[in-house]
Amino acid sequence: MNQKQQGKLGIALVGLGYYSENLLAPALQETEHCYLAGIVTGTPSKIDKWKSKYSIPDSNIYNYQNFDSIKDNPTIDIVYVVLPNSMHAEFTIRAAQAGKHVICEKPMAMNIKECDDMIAACKKAGKMLSIGYRLHFDPYHREMIRLGTKRVYGNIKKMSAAFGILPDDPNQWRLKKALSGGGPLVDVGLYCIQGFCYTTGLDPIAVSAQEGPKTNPVKFKDVEQSLTWQMEMPDGIICEGKTSYTEDINFLKADAERGSFELSSAFNYTGQSGRTPEGKMQFPHVNQQAKQMDDFALAIKNNRPTPVPGEMGRRDVRILEAIYEAMNTGKKVTI
Ligand code: NAD
Repeated sequence: MNQKQQGKLGIALVGLGYYSENLLAPALQETEHCYLAGIVTGTPSKIDKWKSKYSIPDSNIYNYQNFDSIKDNPTIDIVYVVLPNSMHAEFTIRAAQAGKHVICEKPMAMNIKECDDMIAACKKAGKMLSIGYRLHFDPYHREMIRLGTKRVYGNIKKMSAAFGILPDDPNQWRLKKALSGGGPLVDVGLYCIQGFCYTTGLDPIAVSAQEGPKTNPVKFKDVEQSLTWQMEMPDGIICEGKTSYTEDINFLKADAERGSFELSSAFNYTGQSGRTPEGKMQFPHVNQQAKQMDDFALAIKNNRPTPVPGEMGRRDVRILEAIYEAMNTGKKVTI
């Protein structure tokens, strides 16, 4: 019996870069409700390797030009957009128009208008849209959500988080604003924003932000090198974030009335470690991407909403825009 006959939904990955090759394709070997059915690539030299490694038939291999004909392929149920950020909107909309459900990587898009167009295209096609927010399916982050939203240690007073990585290739798309939409904030700072929102269960009402110094103005001529920001949530909760492309930082912390709970490291694919006032968190380490894609497949099969819909991606793009506005004007921006 092939995977389709086993009732699994077929996923086509669009863009075969680092994340697809090293995380999503391997995760799709562990999923129970979906499988790697197809690929869409602009680089023909990658095809042979993918084809033989994952037994993908020629009929399920597309390029960016003939991608729209995927509409005639009933073995592909879900298109997963894993391209540079500036290409998310185009391929999400084309996938929806081809009658496919869509997972789009983070950040959802370059601006609110694109988010609205993506949501509208999926609605019009009657298809579901979700964002690749893998941490919602990680037990350590689920515990942060439980402790925070259930106010297990009383009301949260303050949150803090930082995520910084060290991209080495000076020519990569992440450093080109036209392709990325911004620097570390949109790439990894977004995880701190997500952590603030899902731990408190709240959306921010105002933001302030400060760009960090550029010690490498050539490499970071187009985007910020680092950034700090403050989000004011309802109930007087203050969230302080930091993101960087030159500092390896990684934690998420909540200070509540009866103690603090935190993850450090927080945002990686694995290796989370957590503490509460009662001691160390003990949860299994899971394949986040497998859990995320299986949950979306089940949402489609059971006709229930995804916990990480396009609307959440849109909310976050709105917050990103407000943070950049605050950074550029030096003023507090209301959301
Ligand atoms: P990558 O550079 O490794 O891969 C990008 C792919 O897009 C490559 O296959 C490349 O050939 C293709 N591409 C098409 N047009 C391009 C162009 N004009 N310039 C550059 N590449 C082009 O990037 P990645 O790290 O795989 O990231 C892809 C997407 O996935 C991004 O949106 C990123 O934010 C997201 N991502 C998410 C996670 C996560 O944990 N959820 C992790 C990594 C990346």
